[in-house]
Amino acid sequence: MPMNRIQFQRGMSLVEFQRCYGTEAQCEAALFEARWPRGFVCARCASPWHSTFERAGQRLWQCARCRCQSSLTAGTAFAATKLPLTVWFLAIFLLTQAKNGISALELKRQLGVCYRSAWLIKHKLMQAMTRRETDRRLEAVVQLDDAFLGGERTGGKRGRGSENKVPFVAAVQTAEGRPLFARFDVLPDWRTDTVAGWARQALAPGTHVVSDGLSSFVGVQQAGCTHEPIPHGTGKQSARHPRFIWVNTLLGNLKRSLAGTCHAFKAPKYGQRYLAEFQYRFNHRFDLPAMIPSLVLAAVRTDARSERYVRLAELHR
Ligand SMILES: [Zn+2]
Repeated sequence: MPMNRIQFQRGMSLVEFQRCYGTEAQCEAALFEARWPRGFVCARCASPWHSTFERAGQRLWQCARCRCQSSLTAGTAFAATKLPLTVWFLAIFLLTQAKNGISALELKRQLGVCYRSAWLIKHKLMQAMTRRETDRRLEAVVQLDDAFLGGERTGGKRGRGSENKVPFVAAVQTAEGRPLFARFDVLPDWRTDTVAGWARQALAPGTHVVSDGLSSFVGVQQAGCTHEPIPHGTGKQSARHPRFIWVNTLLGNLKRSLAGTCHAFKAPKYGQRYLAEFQYRFNHRFDLPAMIPSLVLAAVRTDARSERYVRLAELHR
């Protein structure tokens, strides 16, 4: 990949982060701003009238109309946490500012929490990224390729349809020869109808799709897209094909990122979350410091989930 301004942009330094989000009060203020930008609003009846009080060291807001009580974190990804918000915000910093993300094991070391807590924080934040990216639609010109997760050859081509591999579709929107946005989605199979269903959600009608010869990619036409199949060779020859250069480059980056940060994640169970994390960081790469408030907002808008729910990811992909 040629050097460019995005790769050399200045992210947020740890010193700068500590200055902005180093205290519990600063994190609470950032969370309040993300959740109630125009002041408190009751989640049940939408009334702004309220009183506040403290119970067991926790600040609570009580609606003056319906008496409903809420804490700052209730109903968000931070709900029921026993950890200080500063720990969560540091996790958000590490997850967004590192080029290849960070594993739960490394997060455990950096945050000084147990592995279970680090894993849960990471997966709840990944769930927020997944939710945030679900509605992203690619348009104009999109390069499309099929790949799979699992084992050593994540991102590779062989193993199509193999049982313990998780098939996923990689799509990259380009403009003037440069990549703009991407999507990576686990698919249950490669049937034409499955591809069509994916395209209706992931691509705007009228998108021009350039793909390799996988016959079921013709399904994008059912979603109102035009399809240009380009039969080409396999292996290195295909990776260098100019019409697929970005989708292949991103698949290579994804493979390195997953190999470096999560050695043994369970692809069938958590594959979509890892893909969404990579997708989120790629699609927000234009402004690294803005990724912090953006992920805080995504976490606020994600429903509160129990540990059991987060661990049973495959049931609600
Ligand atoms: Zn109310």
